[in-house]
Amino acid sequence: ILARGRDVCRRNGLLILSVLSVIVGCLLGFFLRTRRLSPQEISYFQFPGELLMRMLKMLILPLVVSSLMSGLASLDPKTSSRLGVLTVAYYLWTTFMAVIVGIIMVIIIHPGGAAQKETTEQSGKPIMSSADALLDLIRNMFPANLVEATFKQYRTKTTAVVKSPKVASDEAPPQQILVYGVQEENGSRVQNFALDLTPPPEVIYKSEPGTSDGMNVLGIVIFSATMGIMLGRMGDSGAPLVSFCQCLNESVMKIVAVAVWYFPFGIVFLIAGKILEMDDPTTVGKKLGFYAVTVVCGLVVHGLFILPLLYFFITKKNPIVFIRGILQALLIALATSSSSATLPITFKCLLENNHIDRRIARFVLPVGATINMDGTALYEAVAAIFIAQVNNYELDFGQIITISITATAASIGAAGIPQAGLVTMVIVLTSVGLPTEDITLIIAVDWALDRFRTMINVLGDALAAGIMAHICRKDFVQDKGTEKLPPCET
Ligand code: ASP
Repeated sequence: ILARGRDVCRRNGLLILSVLSVIVGCLLGFFLRTRRLSPQEISYFQFPGELLMRMLKMLILPLVVSSLMSGLASLDPKTSSRLGVLTVAYYLWTTFMAVIVGIIMVIIIHPGGAAQKETTEQSGKPIMSSADALLDLIRNMFPANLVEATFKQYRTKTTAVVKSPKVASDEAPPQQILVYGVQEENGSRVQNFALDLTPPPEVIYKSEPGTSDGMNVLGIVIFSATMGIMLGRMGDSGAPLVSFCQCLNESVMKIVAVAVWYFPFGIVFLIAGKILEMDDPTTVGKKLGFYAVTVVCGLVVHGLFILPLLYFFITKKNPIVFIRGILQALLIALATSSSSATLPITFKCLLENNHIDRRIARFVLPVGATINMDGTALYEAVAAIFIAQVNNYELDFGQIITISITATAASIGAAGIPQAGLVTMVIVLTSVGLPTEDITLIIAVDWALDRFRTMINVLGDALAAGIMAHICRKDFVQDKGTEKLPPCET
């Protein structure tokens, strides 16, 4: 028994350490909350977790570029277009299913029934229209400057010009307040300012294209995938660049193999640090609690039943064995709330534990981490209908269909970073005329829900890779012999 135990520990050492680190992180966080650390002490305490995030983020750019370029270049055009169409169709279908699960859950549980609005009545003006959000999504697909795309993305800026009613409007210098989506404090400040004055001042909103901090992963994915396809068509003349990308990809994976041993340590501080920062959980209202339970139930149904069953019916393989192989990636998703940051570990798990063909993983995973967010789509649909319930706003069937389509689109537009779904929710709310400022109602629990929905986002991408590997297995057996360059392995 002892020998078997040792064997299990040796083979699953990292996974066991990661599970322990989540438990230790929670215990340590709740224990230290009783010590009432100062904000500065908390920020020092969070430093090892911050390092973990920085390491993961550092790997995203080389990993996405090298895996898409080398992955697509090594496939023949017929195989790559078949894989591309199948993957995108599968992603859209499963995201839409997630939304339907969310809608059924929120209608059955009805968490917003008699909820009291905690915010004061506000002007109800959208901070950003859904048309602007859609245009930003398309702009991000075609970055004008690739270097800028590595640290900035397009986000329309809405300027609110507030004119004081007490002074003749022509002479008064208008007060300008910039509103960047809903996360910025300035957004609510405009609303409050408007409330304090009688008669209310005139507020004019005008939108203009702008940028915000954060990598434009969507633009980089589109560029790298196009380059990969073109390199594949160039034949021998494209070989040096393909070879370079293969080596880059292998070397990034080698860095990941070393860095993973730091991760359990980082996870402890990441989780404990977040627990130290969070508001007192007992202050979360009953209805908000119900809302959180609704989202979690939807995620559980989608992640533990629908997606695994789909995997089972398509591949006839045991989904539990598959999910066991990616547990480490799911824990990193839980700790980081970022599917992009989890990408290196998802790769590692799929290649080493689930033995997925690397050419499939190189395409399916980076695209999935960018556009396939089942958890986010489900949560956006639940949140929008919850906000409608809180406002006693009856949604008709057409509006529910609108929510399901816009929640799917909003999840595609969300970046794989913490709480990105909260920002793109504006698209869903404005599409059915719900007040965007009511997003503030759900902010208190969003950081926690974000962790669970990120786990489902990562799970969806990984299962998609398993399913695509099964569906395209014949193409890939043939393709193995014709792969233009041998993998750059030492
Ligand atoms: N944090 C999520 C992810 O990275 C996105 C979101 O729903 O906010 O996948």
